[in-house]
Amino acid sequence: MKLATIRYNGAQRVGCVTEDEMRVELLGPEWSDLRQVIAAGVDPISALVPGSSIPLSSVEVLAPFPRPHRNIMCVGKNYREHAKEFARSGYEAGAVAGKDIDDFPALFSKLPSTVTAHEAPIHLHKGVTEKVDYEAELAVIIGKGGRGIRPEDAWSHIWGYTIVNDVTARDVQKNHKQWFLGKSLDSFAPMGPWAVTADSVDATDLTVTCHVNGELRQKANTRDLIFDIPTLIATLSAGITLEPGDIIATGTPAGVGIGLDPPQFLKSGDRVEITISGIGTLANTCQ
Ligand code: MG
Repeated sequence: MKLATIRYNGAQRVGCVTEDEMRVELLGPEWSDLRQVIAAGVDPISALVPGSSIPLSSVEVLAPFPRPHRNIMCVGKNYREHAKEFARSGYEAGAVAGKDIDDFPALFSKLPSTVTAHEAPIHLHKGVTEKVDYEAELAVIIGKGGRGIRPEDAWSHIWGYTIVNDVTARDVQKNHKQWFLGKSLDSFAPMGPWAVTADSVDATDLTVTCHVNGELRQKANTRDLIFDIPTLIATLSAGITLEPGDIIATGTPAGVGIGLDPPQFLKSGDRVEITISGIGTLANTCQ
């Protein structure tokens, strides 16, 4: 099931998107926040307003979580070929020669204010950065919270999935050593176009692709994650209580702009389209 957060008649609502992605059926106005739906454990079907189906094209699609309740948790260097291209690129502060694959996942976060919707612009922040890059990623949405979640129990804590573009200012990421600043500029987390429930997809076998201006740049399968989803949930939850609606971006495959020879950074007018099988396509244009 695909659930979208939309603006309809001036109000934020949550709706269930039909399989053909042509229409959306509204949940009751008391369920206007997807995180609230998840936290309450509500079956979205039971919350639908009968006869409320409207064309998807007639509403504004917002990010599934327009302003997440806390930072998006993210994993760096979680596909082998990307870890190598990043180490080679010269943009990784503190890179150690011959040690491309980490022993532990590299975890960082992005501010909630980075989030922007499908088809909303990615701002290039001229004067702050010259080197903005895309990163196509599968994002996990936590359903049942908890601390000390064991890997074997991790799947039962997942509500669903969405797509995140972990947009990054490479020069800022490098200059400031910690990744927070270069990853947290306004509009640097396009998310959506909607979220899908966990039963809709097999997250261990999803194809992730990214096109820039129609040219294929990234293509990988989530089976190639270095640290798999249960490992990420167990690692994060060991000492942090995960909460319903927490978002974990699982890392990007090879083919980002700094991996190209010569490197190519995003320019005004560039269109980034990320598709994940079974979820959808997240598209944004740079300005
Ligand atoms: Mg990333």
